[in-house]
Amino acid sequence: MRKKCEACGEEDELIVCSSSFSAESFGLCKSCFANDIYPYDALVVQAWCIGGVDKSTDWFKETIRNNLVFHNMSEEQFNKDIEAIDSTFGD
Ligand SMILES: [Zn+2]
Repeated sequence: MRKKCEACGEEDELIVCSSSFSAESFGLCKSCFANDIYPYDALVVQAWCIGGVDKSTDWFKETIRNNLVFHNMSEEQFNKDIEAIDSTFGD
């Protein structure tokens, strides 16, 4: 059954895989699965959970960088989206 890929939105036969960086699963198309592309929001939330990109391991930084290119987002925007969660849940 064809469904929308959670990362890119293309309709395809999805591969359900566990996330390499969080306790969740994603339905990804073959291309996103092969290229380690994940839903943008999931990356923002995970980076927020660990206290920002600076606190990330090298492999996760690399994953974030590759995904920002794919999603056509700047690092600046990514950090802003992390701060937006802070202002919602922070004190
Ligand atoms: Zn995809």
